Amino acid sequence: MSTGVPAPASQRTLGDERVIGVTKAPPAERYDFFRVIQGYLEEAARHAVVPDHVRQILSQPKNELIVHFPVRMDNGEYRLFKGYRIQHSNILGPFKGGMRYHESAGLDDFKALAAMMTWKCSLMNLPFGGAKGGIKFDPRAVSRGELQRVTRRFFHALGSNIGPDYDIPAPDVGTNAQTMAWALDTYINTVGMVKKEAAMGVVTGKPVSSGGTFGRETATGKGVVHCIVEWARRSRFKLEGKKLIVQGFGNVGSNTAVLLANHGVSLVAVGDHTGYLYNPEGFNVHRLKQYVEQNGSIAGYANGQKISREEFFAVQADVFVPAALENQIGPIEAEALQVRLVAEGANGPCSPEGEAVLLRRGIDLLPDVLANAGGVTVSYYEWVQNRRSEQWTVEEVEERLETAMLDAYERMAQFAKTHSCSNRIACYGVSLGRLVQVYLDREIFP
Ligand code: NAD
Repeated sequence: MSTGVPAPASQRTLGDERVIGVTKAPPAERYDFFRVIQGYLEEAARHAVVPDHVRQILSQPKNELIVHFPVRMDNGEYRLFKGYRIQHSNILGPFKGGMRYHESAGLDDFKALAAMMTWKCSLMNLPFGGAKGGIKFDPRAVSRGELQRVTRRFFHALGSNIGPDYDIPAPDVGTNAQTMAWALDTYINTVGMVKKEAAMGVVTGKPVSSGGTFGRETATGKGVVHCIVEWARRSRFKLEGKKLIVQGFGNVGSNTAVLLANHGVSLVAVGDHTGYLYNPEGFNVHRLKQYVEQNGSIAGYANGQKISREEFFAVQADVFVPAALENQIGPIEAEALQVRLVAEGANGPCSPEGEAVLLRRGIDLLPDVLANAGGVTVSYYEWVQNRRSEQWTVEEVEERLETAMLDAYERMAQFAKTHSCSNRIACYGVSLGRLVQVYLDREIFP
């Protein structure tokens, strides 16, 4: 079944060393993620009247913050960490975006991801701007105590550069509700706030017991599934009995797979940073999710046959949900895929060249800016609840989320139809329209 597909450039080292077991790959050509995101903005701008100054403002983040901070490790030694917070735009409201802990994360990735948050919040009509940040390190390679100290020192170093009315972080790759609980506690204890209750909204994605909202843990997966179900309805495609493949089985990937199982869609291939598994009968997604929660990855899960990354991309299925990292679907992967739909759970999983191949082959694509926007949407609900000292029911949160996702889907579909463009450019076009209007209303200070 091997197609001889190499890993995309930015992933080669990780893939070859860890998964395939080959010695170090040659230096990879750098994938300019920020440039890619800017390219989408420029393409969308062709479908709208965008004043030159607005284009210039949006072409760079407003603030780029880099902090270095020492952490005492378990062996008594000190290690210096590098943390980032990129604040792209706050014209629509406070900066908003996740914190990523990953060994290959860097300034360019955070700039791209921060800009994407601006587009996402604008598309979803949220009163937020865009930001992203994190630390360049492997959170799996440190103890729980070290992880807590790294998190606390990082948020301490950020100080009042974040805040419930200024910049509101959330979980992303390598971080979770526990990370946000440590972040909240550090913020409350170090930044002098008279009203501690008001400080709860400094981060979202917190545990429910610490001011989180019901429904945030599953929100991104739920949003992906609402988009897939809506796509199926509009395409007259019956989901029941169909097959799914998922790359990345963390928060987004596992919740999407579990929720799609409720629609009769079975997961037949799955992959993460440790490798790929295939089960033509369909995995028991609940058991697989539980296994990953206990063991940290799919490695060693018994009910699946090990396959290579190349074989994974060539598995016969109907829907593919990339839910790991950016730049995973280049032209070679896009040629190999045997599905009807790619729904981007991850941010930036398709390269522009990969997307062009998918579209040429008639494979539909639901872009990240819409498909994974359920996370930030429910983060907004969490922030509103914190401001009002309220706790909404899970039903209330999920009902609002479904309406928000379907409304945004309709905005994308309308724009794509009117302007004869791809779904991705339609999302950027809608977002840009809202941003341009705000700049036209308010003009530039002074
Ligand atoms: P996570 O840390 O919970 O899971 C990440 C998954 O990706 C893990 O299964 C990991 O093993 C896998 N992975 C990492 N490197 C890999 C590699 N080289 N090859 C294959 N798999 C690899 O993270 P998450 O929160 O699920 O985020 C996943 C994606 O979804 C990211 O792009 C993130 O920006 C995006 N996203 C997340 C949220 C959210 O609410 N968590 C919201 C919107 C978008």
